[in-house]
Amino acid sequence: MKQKINLLIAFSIVALIVLTAVQCYLVKTTYDYKVAQFHTQIKNEIAQITNDYSDIDSVLVSKKEALYKSLSENYMKGKNTKLNVKNGVLKNDFQRALTKEIQRRFERDLPNFKIDFAIVLNKFILYKSTQKVDTIFSEKPFIKNKLYGNLASLNQAFLVRNYVGTTNGTFENQEYQLLTEDSMYVSVIDWEIIILRRMTIILILSLISITTLISLFIIAIKGLIKQKKVSDVKTDFINNITHELKTPLATLGISTKILEQKNIRDNDENFNAIVNTISRQNNRLQNLIDQVMANSLAENEIELQKEKIEIENFMLSIINDFKITFPKINLKTDFQTEKTILVLDKFHLTTAFLNVLENAVKYGSNTITVKTKIVENQFSISIEDDGIGIAKNKQSLLFEKFYRVEQGNLHNTKGLGLGLYYVNQIVKAHQGSISVISDLGKGTQFTILLKV
Ligand code: ADP
Repeated sequence: MKQKINLLIAFSIVALIVLTAVQCYLVKTTYDYKVAQFHTQIKNEIAQITNDYSDIDSVLVSKKEALYKSLSENYMKGKNTKLNVKNGVLKNDFQRALTKEIQRRFERDLPNFKIDFAIVLNKFILYKSTQKVDTIFSEKPFIKNKLYGNLASLNQAFLVRNYVGTTNGTFENQEYQLLTEDSMYVSVIDWEIIILRRMTIILILSLISITTLISLFIIAIKGLIKQKKVSDVKTDFINNITHELKTPLATLGISTKILEQKNIRDNDENFNAIVNTISRQNNRLQNLIDQVMANSLAENEIELQKEKIEIENFMLSIINDFKITFPKINLKTDFQTEKTILVLDKFHLTTAFLNVLENAVKYGSNTITVKTKIVENQFSISIEDDGIGIAKNKQSLLFEKFYRVEQGNLHNTKGLGLGLYYVNQIVKAHQGSISVISDLGKGTQFTILLKV
């Protein structure tokens, strides 16, 4: 059974991991799609602002053309190297003015986004005639080749457009053509946040579905474990009760067999001894049945016969009786209260206190201290022992029906696991509470709080 549950848990965890992975993959795919969609949107909007950013300022454009021409003509004359042309193009005078102008347009036409951009020059080719092509330079888009713009790196930026420009000129009566290719890169500030905001619903729904799934899984597994525990506890109880019934029944069987012998019946002393044994075992059986019956009641079904009693006196009478039954036990009192009147059911509370005291003896104590005090307007009775103690992880289960710390068939001490359950039911029926503090090997302290 335990193996089955473990297997089930393992399978469910794997299924849950797979489902979560699929969900993450779907969210990631949606994110990538949203990024692509966002880029397309920005591209389209920028395209709408300006078809050709060189139309931004015709004066600047003509200046730029003049610069390109003069650099190329100097190159053709042999005054400029290819590197001179490249540097001349990149260190142009209109860099700042154009950057400012394009930025202003972005701010005006795309007020919802904060855009950084760079226009980088990729190619500068000189066609002296259709046959004679002179590539001054041709490189992949590179931030160092920035013509204008305020971007410092192309890493986070995306390509908006490539622009191929042509400029015609004549040099020494020969026509030539300049072909330039540049690319506009754009980066939208906080674009991740914009995309995440657009994905809010998807993210929330995925999160809700995953948490619901995990919660349902936890609830189901918890239920399963609880059910298993209940079934274990029931099996334990059946084992315990069988064990408890066996001894008196065996004794009764032997006693009746002995009584069948005539010589025993004729001897008064022997006869009475056997009858006494039968009566004792009968009482023991009756007690066991009473215990089971008494504990089949729920806390709200217990009928209390309450009366006003002086609790310290009441405790002392229980303690004195207990001392007579267990003379070897050192039972001490430390009462910090006096003549406190409480309304209680004497009968049930006597049994409850005796259960706690008897447990202390059963579970290895030699010294027991009963203390009383007032704690936050409640009457506190604590019963402290120096017995075997209870492991921390078992303490929360102590007051459950049939629960015993020693489980399975191996029991050193007899019991049905009903004593503390009964105590808890009785205390609760008095609107009180019971708690336990214990360290394994050091002893246990039960504290009962009752309304004053
Ligand atoms: P039981 O019939 O087993 O004594 P109880 O309900 O009285 O049932 O107690 C439940 C379990 O709590 C016991 O099996 C025992 O292991 C543990 N327990 C109770 N009282 C003490 C104590 N004073 N010291 C150590 N263990 C205790």
